[in-house]
Amino acid sequence: MAESRRGRRLKSMFVSIAAHELRSPLASITGYVEMLLDGMFGVVSDKQTEILHIVESGVQRLLSISSNLLDATRLEAGRVELVLVPAHLSRLVRAVATEMMPQMEAREQQFTLDVAPDLPPVLCDRTRATQIIGNLLGNAVKYTGHHGRITVSLTLAAESGFVQMAVSDNGVGIPESDQGRIFNRFFRGENAHLTGETGAGLGLHITRGLVELHSGHIWLQSQLGQGSTFFVTFPIADEEPT
Ligand code: ADP
Repeated sequence: MAESRRGRRLKSMFVSIAAHELRSPLASITGYVEMLLDGMFGVVSDKQTEILHIVESGVQRLLSISSNLLDATRLEAGRVELVLVPAHLSRLVRAVATEMMPQMEAREQQFTLDVAPDLPPVLCDRTRATQIIGNLLGNAVKYTGHHGRITVSLTLAAESGFVQMAVSDNGVGIPESDQGRIFNRFFRGENAHLTGETGAGLGLHITRGLVELHSGHIWLQSQLGQGSTFFVTFPIADEEPT
């Protein structure tokens, strides 16, 4: 038993060191690619620019995998601390949606945000809440094809003292047999492979960890071929945001 706990600790230490060590060479590659694109080392042809953008997006993917690995190991070790402040969830959702607008526009997806009137502010860590929203909205964009519809609804939750966020899409949906495993580390559904979308299967695992750290809950409703809705609750704050 002690052995396996030690093994788990070593494994998580290894993952965390490897992920951390990857970051500085990746940051330096990004820096040089940007300098090349800015023409600092001479004129860059259209073809070279295209290739450099491919390199840049590959490096961004590696950086996001490495920060997800770090987050997953930190959450498992109880090393993620929240800075809780009152915030209006609608503002955070709007900011994330604005950032994702180019991806949604490229797929001609329709985005709607519905906010219940007089919705109270929530108590959250703004960076981590933004990460939760970004992961759910990012998945909705990824797993909903062209011309799809994505809606975020903010209402009071059935559980008193909580606000509920529902992120809905009319995308590929998740088969019932996968729904119990969807929050497991590294789990990627068959549906995900079929769409050809990339991912490491860490997003929902981290999202659940972060939601629970906020004392909230996360669950889903989905039907294969019809779409999915992910529900998240956040505790209501006593004060207005400053
Ligand atoms: P990733 O997107 O990197 O594969 P996630 O942890 O975010 O990892 O999601 C795990 C799996 O859950 C995905 O691979 C996909 O099968 C499924 N999934 C998540 N969100 C959706 C969604 N909105 N629609 C359909 N499937 C989804």
